[in-house]
Amino acid sequence: MAKRSKTDVSRRDFLRKSATVGAGATGLSSGEAGAQETGEWDETADFVTIGAGVSGLAAAISALEHGASVLLIDENSDIGGHGMVSGGLVHLGGGHSKQRAHGVEDSAEKVFQDWIRPDHALARYNDRDLVRAFADENASTFEWLVANGVSFQDRMVGPQMASTVQRQVYTVQWPNKSEIYTSVRTRRGSGLVRALEASARNKGARILLRHRMTSIVREHPRSGRVLGIEATNSDGHRVRIRADKGVLVATGGHSSNVNLRRVFDARLTEEYYVAGDPYSRKSGDGEIAAMAIGASLWGTANQTNEAERCLRKAVHIGCKYGYASLHWPADSPIFDRVGASGLTGVDWANAILVTQLGERFYDETAADYDFIAAAMAHRGDPDKRNGGGPIWAIFDRDAVERQEWDPTPPNVDLDGYFFRADTLAELAAAIDNPFQPRAMPAGTLENTVARYNTFADTGVDIDFGKAAPFFKIQTPPFYAAWSTPLLHDSYTGLRTNASAQVMDYQGEVILGLYCAGECQGGFNQHGLGRSVVFGRVAGRHAALHGREA
Ligand SMILES: Cc1cc2nc3c(=O)[nH]c(=O)nc-3n(C[C@H](O)[C@H](O)[C@H](O)COP(=O)(O)OP(=O)(O)OC[C@H]3O[C@@H](n4cnc5c(N)ncnc54)[C@H](O)[C@@H]3O)c2cc1C
Repeated sequence: MAKRSKTDVSRRDFLRKSATVGAGATGLSSGEAGAQETGEWDETADFVTIGAGVSGLAAAISALEHGASVLLIDENSDIGGHGMVSGGLVHLGGGHSKQRAHGVEDSAEKVFQDWIRPDHALARYNDRDLVRAFADENASTFEWLVANGVSFQDRMVGPQMASTVQRQVYTVQWPNKSEIYTSVRTRRGSGLVRALEASARNKGARILLRHRMTSIVREHPRSGRVLGIEATNSDGHRVRIRADKGVLVATGGHSSNVNLRRVFDARLTEEYYVAGDPYSRKSGDGEIAAMAIGASLWGTANQTNEAERCLRKAVHIGCKYGYASLHWPADSPIFDRVGASGLTGVDWANAILVTQLGERFYDETAADYDFIAAAMAHRGDPDKRNGGGPIWAIFDRDAVERQEWDPTPPNVDLDGYFFRADTLAELAAAIDNPFQPRAMPAGTLENTVARYNTFADTGVDIDFGKAAPFFKIQTPPFYAAWSTPLLHDSYTGLRTNASAQVMDYQGEVILGLYCAGECQGGFNQHGLGRSVVFGRVAGRHAALHGREA
């Protein structure tokens, strides 16, 4: 269809303000103004996406291309969600042009077969209907991204995960560095979300930032079609947004929501920070609002998957957000939220990892699921049976010199995540962190280090089999650096059909409600590929069929 200018869209059918003053302008909180009952709306669009991250942006473009007007809201101060800080490695295949250029033979059928493999933990539990739709849309979605301005590197990566051929391609980092939040390592995902943002705006999308969705409005609490959403803006005012063709839940999953993530794994208690936070949150708000009007969860066996990425060892230590590929630079515009970059490039020959009780628990050089499970194990504390509590890296001045670290801010977070003392006993006493319920026993830490030092002498770690050589911890000052594992993707969420329409516990479609990205259950694939595919599917379906009963 012909491109619509911003003016066209706003004049014709976009954001029609209610004739009367809406509840949002009154400053009243949800329910007080009775706006739901009187049907007053502050904003109107055909298609409304909750979240302007990867799946929300893809859905917006797709809906616009099929004739719908689009409004995206996001609680963050900028677009992109975790896609903004992601590595930009997009998992799409099916025989697209980049694969063909590199001699990779692929087809939709091959994608389908790979992602339902019974011999692979990432494929075994997947919903076959969703995988079929994903497979059939793969190649065209890649070309569609290119057509919408996304630049890809000229190389294929993989095969990784359940794929048996190369299906991953890196996007090219967004050229304007002032529009990227982390730059020490390239954040190629910025090239994906900024390009999608530009395309969506160009096609007429309007984006309301600092608007947090608080509820989804349905005709009746558990029946009828979805009419719109309620949100709170940055002034704390309620904004009611009508969606004539559909609402998309695209809030990025639930990993940042302690109560919701514990539905799937009771061990995921408060001490685990999330990769990609604090840029944006995997708030769980979308799933909770959808469940409140009857939506079903789906494919929950996928969440705690011992083969993949729901939890990761901390790679940068002495800071809250030490996820592997994400090393926050001090000049990041959100560094006040991040706190510290962390000490990086850890050689575990230089440090041990101990629990909140001061005990070693595993070979420090490992990073597999058994390491994670050991970190999360119950330690006999009756007040802390779920979750393993903080994990601390302990090392000495010699280690700092060998690593050539500067253990001062902004590299380390002195506000509860990095400590230094002249003796091990003083170090144990100094550890003061919101997730460390009681002081680390000084004698235990001293004994742990003394025993480990005897292993360093013999070169044999009889407790955990750490490979030699590794170094004694003996020269003051001594250091304790936060090294607790981090959560990553959400692999379960709302039930949808192959058109991304949300379904209820009776297996019926909830008309007017869609879901994509990490909020969607039933498909255990990391990240961007499935988020873009099902976003695109949702936007198209809503634009073409959203009014159908
Ligand atoms: C460090 C890192 C590296 C990664 N690297 C890769 C990679 O290389 N390849 C890959 O495939 N995947 C990668 N991923 C994963 C990928 O970024 C995510 O899977 C993807 O962004 C999910 O898209 P989404 O639309 O579901 O959520 P997001 O892109 O996170 O968007 C969700 C949006 O919803 C907003 N939101 C939340 N709650 C509300 C609310 N109540 N109201 C309004 N807005 C709300 C958030 O602010 C956010 O903007 C990486 C992730 C991280 C953190």
